[in-house]
Amino acid sequence: MRVGIGHDTHRLAEGRPLILGGLRIEHALGLVGHSDADVVCHALADALLGAAGLGDIGEHYPDTDPKWSGLDSTRLLAEVVGLLAAEGWRPVNADVIVHAQAPKLGPHKGTMRDNLARLLGLPGSAVNVKAKTGEHVGPVGRAEAICCHAVVLIEPAPPAGR
Ligand code: MG
Repeated sequence: MRVGIGHDTHRLAEGRPLILGGLRIEHALGLVGHSDADVVCHALADALLGAAGLGDIGEHYPDTDPKWSGLDSTRLLAEVVGLLAAEGWRPVNADVIVHAQAPKLGPHKGTMRDNLARLLGLPGSAVNVKAKTGEHVGPVGRAEAICCHAVVLIEPAPPAGR
């Protein structure tokens, strides 16, 4: 088995949708980025790539490439899962912490977990989403940014057809 860690931060601004873990959440501010800026999918994708020794999403999805402009990051995460599968790896479990001062993410954790589990090909019980505030300090606490930490475990996948 192999373990991987991922982290991502995006800035909050008006006039952008807030999308976390593939879920669009009603909020006055959204995350700024070349893609849809879904920090949860980005952190998780980086954790998967790290576990498999495949680099990071910046290498695979450069933000200078217009092809990825406005990208739905659930697509990116699904592609990374496919990349690992092609290398003979599959996820075992994932644990995620989303740091956001606002909005309150408690009511959305279940949906985010279900979205991520589906994308990872795992039962909901193998994926965990935690939400923390920034305690009103730092960029997260001042509601200038949302960040996410992710840890995943992967194992060799049995060859197809077995
Ligand atoms: Mg990102």
